[in-house]
Amino acid sequence: MKVLVTLLLLLFPMVFVAQQNTILPHPVVFKSMPGYIELDRSLSMDFSSLSSTIIQQLKTTGAYYHNLQLIDRTNKPLVIFKKLVNVPLDSYSINVNKQIIISYSSPKACYFAFHSLMQLIKSDDKGHLIINNCFVDDYPKYQWRGMHLDVARHFFQLDEIKQFLDVMAAYKFTTFHWHLTDDQGWRIEIKKYPKLTEIGAWRDSTVENHYTTSPRTYKVERYGGFYTQEQIKEIVQYAAQRNITVVPEIEMPGHARAALAAYPNYSCTGIQQEVPGLWGIFDDIFCSKEESILFLQDILSEIIPLFPSKYIHIGGDEAPKTRWKECNQCQAIMKENKLKDEHELQSYFIQRMDKFLVEKGKKLIGWDEILEGGLSPNAAVMSWRGFEGGIEAAKLGHEVVMSPGSHCYFDHYQGKGNEEPLAIGGYTNLEKVFDFNPVSPKMSREEANYVLGGQANLWTEYIPSFNQLTYMAFPRAIALSEALWCTEKTTYDAFEKTLIDSHFPLLKNKGINFSSSILKPSITFKRAVNGINVKLSSKSKEERFTLKEGSDHETEVNFTGSKEIEINRTNNSNQVQYEFVSLETGLQSKLKINNNPCLGVIVNYVTKPSDRYNSGDLTLVDGQFGARPWKGHEWIGFDTSVVIIEIDLLKKQKIDSLQISFLKDENSWIHLPYAIEYKNLKTNLGFGMAQSENFENEKQVLFIGKKVQKFRITIKTLDKIPLRMPGEGTQPWLFIDEISIKNK
Ligand SMILES: [Zn+2]
Repeated sequence: MKVLVTLLLLLFPMVFVAQQNTILPHPVVFKSMPGYIELDRSLSMDFSSLSSTIIQQLKTTGAYYHNLQLIDRTNKPLVIFKKLVNVPLDSYSINVNKQIIISYSSPKACYFAFHSLMQLIKSDDKGHLIINNCFVDDYPKYQWRGMHLDVARHFFQLDEIKQFLDVMAAYKFTTFHWHLTDDQGWRIEIKKYPKLTEIGAWRDSTVENHYTTSPRTYKVERYGGFYTQEQIKEIVQYAAQRNITVVPEIEMPGHARAALAAYPNYSCTGIQQEVPGLWGIFDDIFCSKEESILFLQDILSEIIPLFPSKYIHIGGDEAPKTRWKECNQCQAIMKENKLKDEHELQSYFIQRMDKFLVEKGKKLIGWDEILEGGLSPNAAVMSWRGFEGGIEAAKLGHEVVMSPGSHCYFDHYQGKGNEEPLAIGGYTNLEKVFDFNPVSPKMSREEANYVLGGQANLWTEYIPSFNQLTYMAFPRAIALSEALWCTEKTTYDAFEKTLIDSHFPLLKNKGINFSSSILKPSITFKRAVNGINVKLSSKSKEERFTLKEGSDHETEVNFTGSKEIEINRTNNSNQVQYEFVSLETGLQSKLKINNNPCLGVIVNYVTKPSDRYNSGDLTLVDGQFGARPWKGHEWIGFDTSVVIIEIDLLKKQKIDSLQISFLKDENSWIHLPYAIEYKNLKTNLGFGMAQSENFENEKQVLFIGKKVQKFRITIKTLDKIPLRMPGEGTQPWLFIDEISIKNK
């Protein structure tokens, strides 16, 4: 045997182990080859065919990754450049084999190629830089690969924005959507209207905790800041050096309170109000009168020369029509222009801006509300309330950027633990972002051509610091880049592995605070024959835990890696407690299971829950009540006015009472139902409960007192949120978790 091994070693002196790709987003083609090149802290390159702009970009990139110095050398350089023709837009290839050949089709492609090359460089055990022989061929799928940043709710310094752009560039983003104005602050100097920043850039207080917390408290402290036009130019140039276009957003006609605090005459009422320290939607918006339109066009006239971007974002979202309905001037404009309602008035308002921008050689882009009342002829649409707005715009032949809340809102939670920082709500984990596809299956091939790409939005109501901003952005932005770049995506597991192995160390090295929530142990629930199966699993197979069971920790078990517990449903209702403690990190995961005859039984959603809040039918009967503050994954959310759910208890048994738990969070458009009906599916007998019976309670109890196996619950909600409430006129959300039985 020993002889054979020796023989084999002689025959194959070098056993080739294929290297894994380390580039993110994943390239279209990656081929590993035997051998490697060892580098010192410099790279010799033949710069002779490159422009000075590109050379500067490559030098910055080399410094960003490995403090690499790039040396111009035409005699036997390590890296040479070649031009590619007749290939897809922004194509490049890299060939590493004794020499490094970068072939590129455009200056942008050359820049992308160099980022990929830098991501291929690894440090070996002795700290030497090496690059394994390989071949890469690559090009992007979508051109608009964007990140948005709201600097109105919280302000970020120039250096912070530059750092943010550095990381965006590393993941081949092309667009930085800079949300410069909102109710809580106006952040860009406008020379003709100095009060916009003198008054509008500052607020006297900021709401604390979640804005749905009751009673609300405020931190009374002057807060704000703004960018001078010189600083704006500095950022635009910094971004351009990284092949990133800055798209400015000036919000209109809504989200205008900061501007109106400075210039109240441009509102409908003319009443002076302060810059608010509260989040949400406000009734006071720009009046649609001629003076207000000219005021905003003056502002755009100063914006346009600052931003080379073809697109100028004018907001257009969340503009209540309350003031316009009561305003004589707005009503006169409607009459004069034969507009049938205030939505058409908004459309008129946006069209005035559209025409103005087109005359200046720009293109208007706005949030999907600009579809209401008729889409302006040249407008592009950024679809945020879902995919529908984008689909509608594409059908009308308008350009679309997809940015749906379900996949692209990075102000949502990304981890399940209580240690996650306070967020606005919703749950958008890394895998969900990875799964994002900006083209909806409801689009034809021709309609899909109108989709420019996608973008993630970082609203900063709950992001007060740069550290928290990068925590919310990364690594989700890297998953987004994967979704927008890759023509054919790899598996999520392959993406996650490359991310953890090669890019977490890179981010750490750059001092970027990022979320490692995906590394934390997870608790998952599965249906078992007589109840549920709870599994705690750690990404690290070596991590050791103690499991404590019962309220007094009656039993304690040590285990490594993962552990499953089976919980059998009981005839009565009682609570069982578990606690997992990691011996490595000391982190605890606590679990309270409300054991009852519903635990793990069959749930049939006759009404399908919204894709946005559907963590599966077991969620309703897993013994866990939905958490507060809610994140999204622990509730089942419906966006229809009638919800039908059927339950099969698997055997006939006596039920004393049935409890259904709902969530009430009207600021987030989540309302309680007004009626519930119960029906035994065998006997077809049942009863109903309506609004009069105290529907202020989140927990509703139905007294049954009979033997039953299968039953149906029909829940009815309003079909429109009442006037003067957040989200007025739209279908409210219904959130349920959980359904349980109480027996005496
Ligand atoms: Zn008005």
